[in-house]
Amino acid sequence: MEHTNEMQLIFDSRSSNESFARVTVAAFMTSLNPTVEEVSDVKTAVSEAVTNAIIHGYENEVHNIYIRARTEGRTLYLEIEDEGKGIEDVKQAMEPLFTTKPELDRSGMGFSFMEAFMDNLEVMSAAGKGTTVKMEKTIGKGRRLWTTQSL
Ligand code: ATP
Ligand code: MG
Repeated sequence: MEHTNEMQLIFDSRSSNESFARVTVAAFMTSLNPTVEEVSDVKTAVSEAVTNAIIHGYENEVHNIYIRARTEGRTLYLEIEDEGKGIEDVKQAMEPLFTTKPELDRSGMGFSFMEAFMDNLEVMSAAGKGTTVKMEKTIGKGRRLWTTQSL
């Protein structure tokens, strides 16, 4: 079986914890030997999901946000969960530029960024119960060994 590693994080839905969450996930994934760009992609995706939990899920009330992270082989699997208000229509919410908070200057691009920066994105939500965002990214995709890349 491939080597796996796991961690879980539970923290308050305060915007001051956003950087803590993304830096923690970044530290966790270092065993996969990612590039600076790969780390940056994952940090962006984590930030977007955590921000959504804070402002949409809990509407700035302070409750728990859960992050579960797992590496298996070269792949990082992430789940970011809140027990907030949930999403009525997930398909619509994931469309580029769709936002329910235009008055807060949200651009409706969070899910699009998560999709762009990760290899896979799945959103599970139930109105009144909460939302779980599942993402995965394989590290070192398309990276070649110097020795095979002839001059
Ligand atoms: P941006 O991320 O660009 O600031 P946004 O947050 O509105 O804007 P998305 O992140 O793409 O855009 O989310 C789209 C919509 O999905 C949100 O406006 C909100 O209605 C809903 N949504 C997203 N995450 C959650 C969540 N965790 N709980 C409840 N609703 C959510
Ligand atoms: Mg967002």
